Amino acid sequence: MNLYELLEKGFPRDKSSCAIETHDGLYYSWDDLEKATSKMANLLAGLKLPQGSRVAVQVEKSPEALFLYLATLKAGLVYLPLNTAYQAAEIEYFLGNAEPAVVVCSPKNQSWVSDVAKKCGTKHVYTLGDDRSGTLLEKAGKLSDRFKTVKKSDDDLAAILYTSGTTGRSKGAMLTHKNLGSNAKVLQKFWGWKKGDVLLHALPIFHVHGLFVASHGALLNGSKMIWLPRLDTKELIKHMPRSTVMMGVPTFYVRLLLDKEFTKKTVRNMRLFISGSAPLLTETFNLFKERTGHTILERYGMSETVMLVSNPYGGARVGGSVGLPLPQTQVRVIKDDGKLCGVNEIGNVEVKGPNVFKGYWRMPEKTKEEFTKDGWFKTGDVGRWGGETSAGKVPNNYLCIVGRSKDLIISGGYNVYPKEIESFIDDMPGVDESAVIGVPHPDFGEAVVAVVVAKPGAKLNPESMIAELKGKIANFKVPKRLIVVPELPRNTMGKVQKNILRQTYA
Ligand code: ATP
Ligand code: MG
Repeated sequence: MNLYELLEKGFPRDKSSCAIETHDGLYYSWDDLEKATSKMANLLAGLKLPQGSRVAVQVEKSPEALFLYLATLKAGLVYLPLNTAYQAAEIEYFLGNAEPAVVVCSPKNQSWVSDVAKKCGTKHVYTLGDDRSGTLLEKAGKLSDRFKTVKKSDDDLAAILYTSGTTGRSKGAMLTHKNLGSNAKVLQKFWGWKKGDVLLHALPIFHVHGLFVASHGALLNGSKMIWLPRLDTKELIKHMPRSTVMMGVPTFYVRLLLDKEFTKKTVRNMRLFISGSAPLLTETFNLFKERTGHTILERYGMSETVMLVSNPYGGARVGGSVGLPLPQTQVRVIKDDGKLCGVNEIGNVEVKGPNVFKGYWRMPEKTKEEFTKDGWFKTGDVGRWGGETSAGKVPNNYLCIVGRSKDLIISGGYNVYPKEIESFIDDMPGVDESAVIGVPHPDFGEAVVAVVVAKPGAKLNPESMIAELKGKIANFKVPKRLIVVPELPRNTMGKVQKNILRQTYA
C-alpha cells in the first residue's frame, strides 16, 4: 500500500480544521494540505519519470516542503531529503550517488545546485523558498488540485534517507512504503496518540526524527502541528501551552532547562515529551522531571530501521534506558562469538522486523556485511539488557545503549565502553559533558583519553579528576589523558563526532 494512502486515513473528516500552524501565524487547513499536495503530485507525474525515480530535496523547512514530500509519495516516486547544511562538495556526492531525476533546492542556491545537478544528469531542477517563493509552486500552482494516488506495493521504495554520517561517509538507506507505514502505525498506538493532540514540531525535516517519526505521527493521527523552522527556545516556550506532544533531540531539553521562563506553567497542556537521535543524559532526564513534573520518554532508532525500541507510554520510563522493543520488532543483544547476552552483559544490538530497511543504496557489499546470514540487521550500536544507570536499576527487559561498536576501546586487551566512563566524568562537579575515546598506544594497543567540557565559569583540574577516577573505576578504564575543551565537535544533527576527536588526539 502507498504510504500516503495510509497516512490519509488518519486525516480528520473536517477538512477546514487546521493541519499546520506556522510560527509566523499562517494556518493551513487539511484541505490546503491535500490540494497543495495534489498540485505538486500533478507536476511530478507530468514529468513521466520511470518507476523508482528519485526526487532529491534540499530546502529550508516550510509546510510546502512537507507537502512536496507527500506529493512525491502520492506520485509514487522516491523522496530523498538532504540536510540543509550540506555545501557543494557534499551535494555533489549525494546527487552523484543517487542520480535523482528531480532536484528541488532553495532559490538562493539555485545557481550552484543547478550546475551540480546537471553534472549528475538531472534534467529537472526547481526551487522552493520558505516563503512560498520559487519555481516549484509557480508551476504546480497552475495544475489541478486533484490527483489519484499512484498504487504502490509494500516493498516499493518510498524514500532514500542518507544516514547522519557520524561514523563515516553517509549511506543511503532504502526505505519502503511498508517500512515507514508499519512503524507509523506501531508508534501511534505505542505512544498513545489521542484525538485533540497538537504536535509542537521544531525538528528539521530532512532526517528520520522530524520527517518520519514526528510528521507521520501527527498526519496519521489527524493532529495539528505547530510548525517552527528550527530550535528556538523562546518560540518553544511561546507555543508549548497550546501543544500536547513534543519530540526533540536531547539539546531541546538541555536548552529548555537553561531558560528560567520554562516552568510548570509552560507545560500545563503537554501530554508527552519524547527524546531521541542521541543519548539523553540522566542528569537532563532528572532535572526535567524536577522542573516540570514530566518524565521524558526516550526512544531509540536510526535511518535504517526507523524506530525500534522505546520506553513505554503507560509503564515505567527509565532514565538512561531506551526501553522495550516495539511491537513487531525483534531485538537481540549478541556477543562477537554469536552467543546471546544475558542480563547486564554487553554486546551488539541487532534487529529484525517490518521496519528494517531494504539495504544501502548502490552498496550491495556494505548491505551484505551489515546483515547476518539469518537476516538480522547489525545496528552498529552496543548495548545491554537491564543493569543499572546513575538514575537507578533498569528492568531486565529494557535496553540500554552503551555506545557505537566503532567507538569501543580495547586497552591492554580489555574492552572499555566509553559511556560508562563518560557517566562518571559527567557526574563530577563543574563538568558539562564529556567524550571518551581510544587513541593508538604502543603498549596498550589503545589508550583511554577523555575530552571534557566545563560548565560555564567552572575550572577543571585534569590531574585531580584522573586521581578521583582512580578511586572509582578499574585502572585500565581510567583516562591516561583528560583534555578540557570549550566544546565537542558535532555534526549537523548535533551528534558528537568521535572520529574527529580520535584524529585530533591521536
Ligand atoms: P552514520 O550511520 O552515518 O555514522 P548515524 O548512525 O548517526 O550516522 P542516524 O541514522 O541518523 O545516523 O542515527 C542513528 C544512530 O543514532 C543510532 O545508531 C544510535 O547510535 C544513535 N541514537 C539514536 N537514538 C538514540 C538514543 N536514544 N540513545 C543513544 N543513541 C541513539
Ligand atoms: Mg548509523
